[in-house]
Amino acid sequence: MQKVTDNVYAETQFAGCNPGFVVTSEGVVMIDTPQMPADAIKWREEIAKHGPVRYIMITEPHGDHFTGAHFFEGTIIAHEGTREAIMASSAEQLKERLQETSPESLPLLEGFSYRLPTITLNDRATVYVGNHTFRLINHPGHTPYQVAVYIPEEKVVFTSDNIFYETHPFLHQAVPYEWLESLDRLQELGAESMVPGHGEVCRPDYIPKMKTAIQDWIDAVSDAINKGMSLEEAQDTISFLDRYPVDERMAAMGPMLQRMNVARLYEVLKK
Ligand SMILES: [Zn+2]
Repeated sequence: MQKVTDNVYAETQFAGCNPGFVVTSEGVVMIDTPQMPADAIKWREEIAKHGPVRYIMITEPHGDHFTGAHFFEGTIIAHEGTREAIMASSAEQLKERLQETSPESLPLLEGFSYRLPTITLNDRATVYVGNHTFRLINHPGHTPYQVAVYIPEEKVVFTSDNIFYETHPFLHQAVPYEWLESLDRLQELGAESMVPGHGEVCRPDYIPKMKTAIQDWIDAVSDAINKGMSLEEAQDTISFLDRYPVDERMAAMGPMLQRMNVARLYEVLKK
């Protein structure tokens, strides 16, 4: 676990997303949750040292961010689109996946169900807890439903997967042009530290590099479409694994990720 500022903590070493929390004068606010049950329980013990959990803010509609909410108290806040994704998630499928990837986790899933947000937003919301302000802002990009959580008192922003720090971005549900605009808006917040969805805690000077990666993807797939390539030809041709390596924990996914990214951009840019 990393102490980002006096009151903000984040973990970048769990499998899945980077969860974090903020210690306020009236309890703890979590941002995202650990994906793996054993990590969630460790995280819960860590957080308990700082007070009760008041809120859980979920930044996006992917399971590595919201699955762990089962293990915590606290009111869940997320984008309406994230709530729909959680409603569509199957506990049975989760158990089947863990049976393969992490069978030792299964006993921890006794009585598991996905917890739903009871407060949602579509554009933005502000939550005041003790001495802290949480500005939740929809930043479409990695999916249409991304939410940045900015805490002005700490000058920290939790970016969701709109920032992959030094690891390859997933574009399989991306809205690429909106993503570029959202990165400009992220820059304007005035944060000094960013907790990205994946990769190490970083500073806003990484944002231009993230924009370049998205633009490179857009350009490569646009070029393939303009040359008249089919989707399959584009998938066989385009790879950014050399320029933007995949985090070693996800290395095996690299080639499939390239094909997923091409497929999504091909569909979006063809229009
Ligand atoms: Zn994601």
